Amino acid sequence: MNCTLCHTKLIEKIDAEYYNCPTCDAYVKDELLWFNAANEKKHYEQHNNDINDIGYQNFTAPVTNTILDLCTIDMLGLDYGCGKGPVITEQLKKKGYSVDLYDPYFYADESYLTKQYDFIFSCEVFEHFYTPLKEIQKLHGILKQGGFLIIKTHLFNHQTDFKNWYYRKDLTHVFIFTFKTFAYIAATFGFNVITLDEKLIVLKKL
Ligand SMILES: [Zn+2]
Repeated sequence: MNCTLCHTKLIEKIDAEYYNCPTCDAYVKDELLWFNAANEKKHYEQHNNDINDIGYQNFTAPVTNTILDLCTIDMLGLDYGCGKGPVITEQLKKKGYSVDLYDPYFYADESYLTKQYDFIFSCEVFEHFYTPLKEIQKLHGILKQGGFLIIKTHLFNHQTDFKNWYYRKDLTHVFIFTFKTFAYIAATFGFNVITLDEKLIVLKKL
């Protein structure tokens, strides 16, 4: 298969399930092992992202706090891949922000494609992308110049053994990013990197 982000031909797997792309450094799951949509929806329905769950609010706090820091209430936001319980959006709305929701399974309203956003956030979503190139192109296209793309995913930092890493073991994760992958994305698509931490990435569209 080819890398689903940069199209480099992937030749040898590093373990039973994943390739490591020599160009963008992403870890790409073998497409023969991808979940089908029906199983995927069932899996997400069990995700514990209840709006009133304090644990989940703490989990999403880095994203919420980043938005409160960088964005003002006159800006339009998109919660991309919000899941069935859009915790971050609920908290932002209480503070007066306008945020659209999109999720292919739970909020499948595609009107967001016709709009332009000041900020887009995506919490624990990017690692599920089957076609990250198309997804990032799409998000880049609906983001205003100078707009923010705020992403929560867990970057693989090479300090842990990949094979035994918890994030690799999630059945629905198919594309795992590294610091280098985001450097590649910023250079390729035209973003400034504002934050590049192991669990939080903020990009600003050039
Ligand atoms: Zn690649």
